[in-house]
Amino acid sequence: MTHGLSLHFLGAAGTVTGSRSLLEAGNQRVLIDCGMFQGLKNLRRRNWEPFPVECSSLSAVLLTHAHLDHSGYLPRLARLGFSGPVYASSATVDLARILLLDSAGIQEADAAFANKHQLSSHAPALPLYTIADAERVLKQFRRVEPGDWVEFLPGWRARWNSAGHILGACSIEVEHAGRRVVFSGDIGRYDDPIMIDPEPIRRADYLVLESTYGDRLHTEERPLEILHDLITRTAQRGGTVVIPAFAVGRVQLLLWYLYRLRGSGRLPANLPIYVDSPMSTDVTDIYRDNSRLLKQNYTELQAAFQMPRYVRDVQESKALDITRMPKVIISASGMATGGRVLHHLKHYAPDSRSTILFAGYQAAGTRGATMTSGAATVKIHGEYIPIRADVHHLSMLSAHADADELVRWLQGFETAPNCCFLNHGEVQAADTLRLRIKDELGWSVFIPEHLEKFSLP
Ligand code: ZN
Repeated sequence: MTHGLSLHFLGAAGTVTGSRSLLEAGNQRVLIDCGMFQGLKNLRRRNWEPFPVECSSLSAVLLTHAHLDHSGYLPRLARLGFSGPVYASSATVDLARILLLDSAGIQEADAAFANKHQLSSHAPALPLYTIADAERVLKQFRRVEPGDWVEFLPGWRARWNSAGHILGACSIEVEHAGRRVVFSGDIGRYDDPIMIDPEPIRRADYLVLESTYGDRLHTEERPLEILHDLITRTAQRGGTVVIPAFAVGRVQLLLWYLYRLRGSGRLPANLPIYVDSPMSTDVTDIYRDNSRLLKQNYTELQAAFQMPRYVRDVQESKALDITRMPKVIISASGMATGGRVLHHLKHYAPDSRSTILFAGYQAAGTRGATMTSGAATVKIHGEYIPIRADVHHLSMLSAHADADELVRWLQGFETAPNCCFLNHGEVQAADTLRLRIKDELGWSVFIPEHLEKFSLP
């Protein structure tokens, strides 16, 4: 029995969020990643549109990693009737539990806030999903061991391979009826101090490749030197360094660098370092427990992760904006789209002695993108806040491979795939990478549109 295999792009086409790719053969449907759309409002609206296929008809979901733009729609999928298994690496399962429950909590709180203040044009405002939906889908998770083939459905098998990026992140090879389709997931950086290098993949009949930094190269500047310089100068003029950071990966990398600086006596004596994000605290525990998957050993990571003061209590978090003492505050979210960091930005962005340090990708439409583009004000909680602090963007602290590193990963393939599809990138980034892969590797490359479907002969 043979059925034509097809590939359907249900998200992350021409944009960096909402990663959802569907493989179909006969009545078998396998979804690779199940991300939430984030950033611009017309993208976020897609989270509310009907799912393009009947959710109960999906046989399985395979997850590359835990980031919400790859996993954050799962509770909604379950709410709409998906009851099949979700396969992911063990560390991804642990991280997804934290991220999905947090996301559900935010959805519930936002809906409650909108109802209380009658902000929604829909009455009553509903959450996209609830904590109960997240709990339900978390029960559907199955842990896989990277490197082993898993027969997840009759006639289908898949293998997860480490992609660097964040703890547990993998590329996935999916095989059906003799054809192999590879999904890169998000590819990490080479020579990262904590994460291991992305593993090469040797063969694909079809490849779906991310293109987040397809038109950019990270600077060669050394993060330790820059952090040392910025923190020292800010502390000398009596300011505070606020670092909006992604709870998964960026907080841990920053702690590693700050630990190195402190260890070599290059941070001002007694300069307090705070991690003000309960989710980052929980995620850091999972990084420590999984140190065998990381480059540094348990003892070193333990010391780095024990260095800061973790702030759980809301009152203590507020107190950080009252004390005048120079300090470093690391707080989520990484693109300043929500979380406790907003309160610190409201307080410290107007302070010309202070420094705001963004680490990692800033998607269009986020406060992070506004602030790093040099805007004079930023809107927080309905108020326009003047920006007088120094604002810096350390893109080399990104968890994403740049264009050179993506091409380096492609060079691991022994032969060209029949077609390489580029997703997970803004249009400009994807198109620049398309030309580069075509010219340098001679591959056939295609950029799919949202909801475009291809048969894979
Ligand atoms: Zn990611």
